[in-house]
Amino acid sequence: MKIALIAHDKKKPDMVNFTIAYTNILKHHELFATGTTGSRIGEATGLDVYRFQSGPLGGDQQIGAMIANNNMDLVIFLRDPLTAQPHEPDIIALMRLCDVYQVPLATNMGGAEILIRALEDGYFEWREIVNNEQ
Ligand code: PGA
Repeated sequence: MKIALIAHDKKKPDMVNFTIAYTNILKHHELFATGTTGSRIGEATGLDVYRFQSGPLGGDQQIGAMIANNNMDLVIFLRDPLTAQPHEPDIIALMRLCDVYQVPLATNMGGAEILIRALEDGYFEWREIVNNEQ
């Protein structure tokens, strides 16, 4: 599965801890991230993560483009709800595209935990059907 990992600055430590905790699951998948999030994950876990631009410089839009091509299976986006983001329109656009293409999206750690366990338990097999139809 293709998995996007994005975390706002104050949520990056949570993302690092999450990816350390679930390295054994994540290593079986193709990982994509915005620039700084991807660096932090790579340094902490050694996972192979394809890095797009940093979020404020267009990384969210680049991941959005993958979603628009139905080329992303899962998005974990640890948002900071208490800090204004300069690229808020890009963030909203990315989440909207997840809704358009029925791509599972977690925007906090509670949802992320559920989705990663669902991934491990095989609940994402329907995405393979979607992917094979393309
Ligand atoms: P970053 O981008 O991983 O480059 O910090 C995340 C974001 O703020 O959208």
